[in-house]
Order: sequence, then structure tokens, then C-alpha cells
Amino acid sequence: MKTCPPFWFEPAPWVDGAWRQASHRGSDACTVRNPATGALLAEVGRADAGTVTAAIEGAARAGRGWREIPAAARGEVLKRTAAALLSRRDEVARLLTAEQGKPYPQAAGEVDYAASFFQWFGEEARRVHGRIVPHPEPGREFLVEQCPAGVAGLITPWNFPLAQGAKKVAAALAAGCTAVWKPAEATPLIALALAPILAEAGLPPGVLQIVPGKGSVVGPVLAADPRVRVLSLTGSTATGISLMAAAAPGIKRLSLELGGNAPFIILPDADLELVTDQLVRLKMFVSGQVCVTANRIFVHADREGELIERLAARIAALRIGDGLAEGIDAGPLIHTAACRDVRGRVAEAVAAGGRIVAENRSFEDVPGLDQQNFFPPTVVAGVEDSMRLASEEIFGPVIPLLSYRTLPEAVDRANATPYGLAAYVYGTDLARLRAVASALEAGIVGVNEWRPLKAEIPFGGVKQSGIGAEGGEEGIREFLETRVISMPKPGVER
Ligand code: NAD
Repeated sequence: MKTCPPFWFEPAPWVDGAWRQASHRGSDACTVRNPATGALLAEVGRADAGTVTAAIEGAARAGRGWREIPAAARGEVLKRTAAALLSRRDEVARLLTAEQGKPYPQAAGEVDYAASFFQWFGEEARRVHGRIVPHPEPGREFLVEQCPAGVAGLITPWNFPLAQGAKKVAAALAAGCTAVWKPAEATPLIALALAPILAEAGLPPGVLQIVPGKGSVVGPVLAADPRVRVLSLTGSTATGISLMAAAAPGIKRLSLELGGNAPFIILPDADLELVTDQLVRLKMFVSGQVCVTANRIFVHADREGELIERLAARIAALRIGDGLAEGIDAGPLIHTAACRDVRGRVAEAVAAGGRIVAENRSFEDVPGLDQQNFFPPTVVAGVEDSMRLASEEIFGPVIPLLSYRTLPEAVDRANATPYGLAAYVYGTDLARLRAVASALEAGIVGVNEWRPLKAEIPFGGVKQSGIGAEGGEEGIREFLETRVISMPKPGVER
């Protein structure tokens, strides 16, 4: 059994390179517990509006120096952060598991994934450049510059609390912006844990400020302050809508990674052994609390029986429990309210004709778990498009099966959602796979692949799943402004 490591950071806001102890241990602290056991991890001081404003002021001050540092040197700080994260992989992963609940191997994978963004944007920093454009009038030229936008406000969720932060922090800092980062209320510790690692890697004070706190308090301050020029949120579509409205009076740039409702289409010629393996891995990843997880499984009616049999065997074999224990496939949900929510969706589907065809409640026999935070991996057959299990994001380890007869029908139903984050298609005929993948309205499509996300590629949703992209060449552009200087062209006097 692994344990949560001793903290190398303080459970308090990190502003101008120091812990803001004043708000800590006051009445306004947020209690962080291990969701698997209910054990108290920390009381984290929330940043109030004044602390957030001080953080913005400090970031604006630090911005003047940070943007003057050569891009290659800024990149070195990020690359050293990547190396430091990897060298401390075990303790960071144990903290992540204790705070978020995901099994340790998944947490260690998230540390690698986060490090890959520090490495990628550390390299991208030096590739930001402008261009000289010929002027249509004689003796003049245009200089097109890419400039850091200013202070960036970064807001992240609890499901990948390290990686979602890393994507934003690394891109913003590589672009020459400074940033104020608000982690989710359920998972502030892993964000605070990053502060000393960045400082040791050479990040000057004030370049990254971390302000744990309530979205309803921190969000409006970030949205209203004119020094904040970019707001980057990963969270639910409802939060995206409210942040967009709050940012409108200040005409701020927005980068939004929001909710999803990913279809997973199984073509008639799919290899069901591969499908079962990858679908169960995808749905058990962070217990289904993933924006890109498969939310609606469209299976051809002729293959549904075989799929159910295979899924039932895999679900029965899953080991569920405390992610710090050995050999765990699925951990708890983030809190009791999340379990209640998922239970309600399954119950509604069953009342409307859905059938539970597989379920694993083995965690009920495991001592020491906070049982209220666990939800049994479940397969529900006979799901209809209109049920909330299909029309809304589930955020739990539930596999809803929707059967189809024709391919156009499957594609139309897959696209009949306001969301467009991820989609999956499984089969063997490459031409058909390509055609279906192109017809799906999603920011990313995995073809016979359950986790296509990497630092090298842009990831972002279409429709109500978001605006902009993280990763790839595109990620850094979210934090850059294009400016033009039109000036006389210097020439040699003759
Ligand atoms: P959430 O929207 O409730 O919270 C996300 C963050 O926004 C948190 O830090 C929260 O405190 C903050 N917040 C809440 N209200 C705010 C406000 N008014 N102003 C500013 N900030 C505010 O989402 P969650 O429950 O933490 O995460 C789950 C959601 O995130 C799901 O919908 C999931 O699909 C989505 N998500 C999307 C991606 C993606 O890349 N597209 C990745 C992970 C999660």
C-alpha cells in the first residue's frame, strides 16, 4: 500500500513567490479529503478577492521582466520543470492519487503527460516569430509581430488537476505571459505542489501565481480586471457560459475547453476483443470522469449480444478500491454528490426501459473505503437517445449501449448533440473508418484508439465544447497577440 507523501508546499495561496498565510487557517478554508477513504489531507486557505487582485498586480509587474527574457531561456525553465516533475514522479503521483482518487498508475501517467506539456512548450517558446510583409507603397514595410497578450487567468477542473494546469501554465509562460491560476476546489494541493518545482527550475517570483478558491469569487475578479487579457478555462459548458458573460464587458480573449458527450461507434466489422479492451480502459480511466470519455456507445444491432457478453466478463474482473493500493483498476468518484448524480441518471434510464446487464459492486466488501464515494462500473443496454444517460455527460463508470441498424443513422445520431469534443470509431475497413471519422462533428476522433491526446497535437472542442485549442503549435497562440508595425523601410543611401 502506498501513502500520501509529506507536503513540500504550504496549503495556501502562492503569490509573488511566497505562501500567503494570512488567509490560511482563517475561517475561509477549504477542506480537502482523500475521496477513497475520507481521510483529511489539508485545510487550504482560500484566496479572497483582495488576494486575487494582489496576485494580478504581482503578475502584471513580473510580466515586464518575464517577456524581456529571451524565449529560449524561458523555454529552458519549462524544460527543467518537465525534468523535475519526472524525477519526482512517484511522490507527485501519490499526492495526486490521494487528492483526486485515480489509481496510482493513472496518476503516474498524468505526471508524464503534464511533463510532456512543459517539455513541448519549452521547445515551442523559441519558435514564436513574426514576419516582414511587403508594403504595396514604395519605401515602406510591415512588421508582423507575435506579442505576449499580458496576464492570463487560468481556471482548471479536478479530473486532471495537474495536466490541465500544466497545459495552460506551460503555454502561457512560453508565450511570455505571466499567469494567475485558480485550481478546482476539490484538488488545490497538486497545483500548489507545482509552485516550488517551478521556482527551483528558475521561474522568477510573480510569473505564476496560484490562488485556490471558489469559482464564484475568483472568476469574477479575473474577468473584471483589465490587466487580465486572456481567460483560459477547462470546465463545464455552464461555467464557460458564465465566464464568457463575465468577460464580455472587458472584451477579453477566451480559450475554453468545455464539456463533451462523445459517441463511440462500433462498426459491424469491428474486432470486439479490441473494442471491449479499449472501451473498458477508456470508461474506467478516472472512473469515467473525463471530458473525452465515451458517453454513448453505438453498436450495430447484430453485434450487441456478443459485445454485452464480453463487457460483462471484463467488468466482473475489475478491481475497485483505494487508488494507493496495488492492482486497482478504478477508484472512487470525486465526491458523494457525483455518485448521487450518476445513480440518478442510471435509475431514470432503467425506469424508462434500459437494462443493467453488468455491474461490479466488489468495493462493498473492501474495508476502509468511504463507500458513499464509489459507484459500481455498470453496463446499461437498451439506452435511447432521449435518456439523460445519453443526452448529457455522465461523468461516471457507466457504459450505455445504444443499438443502430445503418451507418448513416449512427452518424446522424452521434452528431445530434450540442457538444463536439471527442468521438471514437472502431472497425477494420480503413476507407469506411476514414469516412465516418470525417463525418463526425468533434475536435478529435480516435480511430481504433482510446486515448489519442498528446502534447504534439491541438486539442479543443467544436460546437458548445469550446473555443481554441491546447497543445500542438496552436496551444501557444492562445496567449499571443498579433500586432503590426507599418514603417519606412531602411535603405542604404547612394
Ligand atoms: P466546473 O465547470 O464546475 O469547474 C471548473 C473550474 O471552474 C473550477 O476551478 C471551478 O472552481 C471554476 N468555476 C466554477 N464556477 C466559476 C465561475 N463562475 N467563474 C470562474 N470559474 C468558475 O467543472 P468541474 O466539475 O470541475 O469539471 C468537470 C467538467 O469539466 C466537465 O463538464 C468536463 O467535461 C469538463 N472538462 C473539460 C475538459 C476539456 O478539455 N474540454 C477537460 C476536463 C474537464
